[in-house]
Amino acid sequence: MQDNFEEYGVRTKAIHAGERPDPTTGASAPNLVMSTTFLADPEANFSVEGLEADAPYFYTRWGNPTVHQLEQKLCALEGAEAAVAFGSGMAAISALFFHLLRSGDHLVISDVTYAAAAEMANDLLPGLGIQITKVDMSDLDAVAAALTPQTKLVYAETPCNPILRLTDIHAVAELAHSVGAVLAVDSTFATPIGTRPLTLGADFVLHSLTKYIGGHGDALGGALLGGASEIEKMRQKVAIRTGGILSPFNAWLIMRGMATLPLRMRAHEENALQVANFLEKHAKIKRVIYPGLPSHPQFALAQRQMKNFSGMLTFQVADGPAMARQLAERLKVFHYAVSLGHHRSLLFYMPTADLQASSFRLPPKQFASLQAYAGEGIFRVSIGIEDAEDLCADLAQALTAD
Ligand SMILES: *Cc1c(COP(=O)(O)O)cnc(C)c1O
Repeated sequence: MQDNFEEYGVRTKAIHAGERPDPTTGASAPNLVMSTTFLADPEANFSVEGLEADAPYFYTRWGNPTVHQLEQKLCALEGAEAAVAFGSGMAAISALFFHLLRSGDHLVISDVTYAAAAEMANDLLPGLGIQITKVDMSDLDAVAAALTPQTKLVYAETPCNPILRLTDIHAVAELAHSVGAVLAVDSTFATPIGTRPLTLGADFVLHSLTKYIGGHGDALGGALLGGASEIEKMRQKVAIRTGGILSPFNAWLIMRGMATLPLRMRAHEENALQVANFLEKHAKIKRVIYPGLPSHPQFALAQRQMKNFSGMLTFQVADGPAMARQLAERLKVFHYAVSLGHHRSLLFYMPTADLQASSFRLPPKQFASLQAYAGEGIFRVSIGIEDAEDLCADLAQALTAD
């Protein structure tokens, strides 16, 4: 059985990478190893520092066979040397910050990111002595102007949650490297099927596995991927010690979801295009933003950087709060709920003023740019893999009050 699936296509990798039949039982599907502890060699050194990448299993916080299988599958799809899995996307983001940033260091972060990452940059990191500059990552001059000799990390999200603005990964990686900083990309929305940031020059890529990679809305998880030496250092010095590691049960569920990621992403994209086109023509809709539509402000970049436009879109209406109540009540197929990337379609209203007040807290010029994308507020829509006709019909009946 092959361990290295480098020469295979993405669908074969998604199914076979990291897995092989159990040598003892012949079981074809991966085992779920829930054991927290493993028989140890009495001569072994009881220290994380002595941990080698191929060390035997010792204690599940240090490493677990099922979690390790998921990490290998992630590496195969992302084209990464190494991966470390976490209990959530936020645990992966926290580990990245703890690993790379020290008091006196400077972080350049996308001014619109996943809300909890923005809140960490606003509330937690400054207290640790870390300087923060928030920039609109679609503006390369602004990125260049934000960099200083103290900049250690540039942190981007593309497409960003929730407004779907894009970052040119290759260009921002070159800027970051020019001052000796590294670039980390949150690629949760794009997935490895759409974009592989490491091949475009990023140093780290991270995912909330809770979203497309797990794909079924039933397991939280996160992962960080990159070069082997940095990732193994991060595992030893941060992941194992801060302890936000992934449960083997969730690893097993996410691995099963991940086997169908290439098929699901094709269906998400196909459905999202149909729904986006339907919404763009609908009388009640003021604006639709989807990276796969020519009307996206960065459509040329989307075409260049995304092999799959994914299933996330936003739309705006005249009276968002009233429409939110109407949709929550009338939608039959869509669930009015947060989260995204599930097989099931989800939709949620986000008022721009609330995002600004609770999470982003941007200076006026950047707030104006947020408003240019989001208006008064957006419906963030995660298009599932149901029948596109049913999704359009559900939206049609729910948007039109009788
Ligand atoms: C959901 C999400 C996260 C956080 O992931 P959790 O698994 O909920 O901790 C981070 N980044 C993006 C883009 C997300 O959508």
